Amino acid sequence: MKENNNIQLFAPTYRIDECLAEIRQCLEVGWTGLGFKTIDFENAWKNYTGLPHAHYLNSASAGLHLAIRLLKKKHGWADGDEVISTPLTFVSTNHAILYENLSIAFADVDETGCLDPASIEERIGPKTRAVMFVGLGGNTGQFRKVEEICRRNNICLILDAAHMAGTRLEGRIPGAEADAVVYSFQAVKNLATADSGMLCFRDEELDRLARQQSWLGIDKDTFSRTLSSGSYKWYYDVPELGFKFHGNSILAAIGLVQLKYLDIDNAYRRQICIWYDEMLKNIRQLKRVPIAEGCESSRHLYQIRVKNRDEVLLALNNAGIFPGVHYRDNTEFTMYSHNVLPCPQARAFSNEVISLPLHLRMTRADVERIGEALTNILSRSLHY
Ligand SMILES: *Cc1c(COP(=O)(O)O)cnc(C)c1O
Repeated sequence: MKENNNIQLFAPTYRIDECLAEIRQCLEVGWTGLGFKTIDFENAWKNYTGLPHAHYLNSASAGLHLAIRLLKKKHGWADGDEVISTPLTFVSTNHAILYENLSIAFADVDETGCLDPASIEERIGPKTRAVMFVGLGGNTGQFRKVEEICRRNNICLILDAAHMAGTRLEGRIPGAEADAVVYSFQAVKNLATADSGMLCFRDEELDRLARQQSWLGIDKDTFSRTLSSGSYKWYYDVPELGFKFHGNSILAAIGLVQLKYLDIDNAYRRQICIWYDEMLKNIRQLKRVPIAEGCESSRHLYQIRVKNRDEVLLALNNAGIFPGVHYRDNTEFTMYSHNVLPCPQARAFSNEVISLPLHLRMTRADVERIGEALTNILSRSLHY
């Protein structure tokens, strides 16, 4: 909403008529729930990413939880076993680990804000079972090295790709080697629906179990029961406890439309970032968070670092510009503050980072206005 001259951090864009046409089909058929468009969207997503499985869920938070839960079950991890994770993420990432009674070993990040492979190696111990890697802002960081570490140490790899819809690494969608890749289609993410996500397991059996567990543990969903014939249509078993995590056709309908535009939308995001780079490259009081080699980022975020972050944020707000912070070091939150090894790079990043406004409604003039505001604000500040 641009009711005034303010520039917000995020603003989702929808091709409204196309979305409504796709939703209309659900309403006409009378099928708004699991099945129908959710299956179309899963197929479209597999096709787009090249990943072998995709299960549509009501959020990435649910996807991360199921990824941890089912990998724990498959590999027989014990309560208290460890998952190495990052302090620089949305709390969903780390909550998922705790839901299943595992412990988090926080490792430090590199200059991209993604987990640093050297720190991961330091944290690996006898109880380490998995690494949870977050592609911050769409960046792949040193993901190849992390894959290699997981392979060599025989530990699982989960990619929290909430920011990474459309990111390529060396020309391909990353994650084919990960045990699970989880995408978010929440309202401010690159492929915005309203609230939903995709869980992509490498293992076919885990994909099947994820479908069962996301529908309360029922071994057959209503849609396939409707398709099956005979007098046993009503019959199902509930072999184990599950959750109501599955996605619905209304939001999948929006997702199908958004996916058609994902690559061109991301190309415009990258264009905005090029404008930012031009505007900001000579400001010595700030540092741009670098994009890793070989990464074509989805550019969910455009991040800079400054020494006097809180002051700069306030001054930008006074100029009608509303950036964000991704993220506060999770170990500063009360519930994550106990028994953690220090992650100095993550702490510094957390104290200095600003995510500048980045969305499809922005123009070059908006970027220039932000660049000029930053130049003025920072002219009196210390060099980075
Ligand atoms: C948004 C986000 C999530 C959670 O996504 P939801 O779909 O809102 O549950 C998880 N991890 C990261 C890094 C995110 O940004």
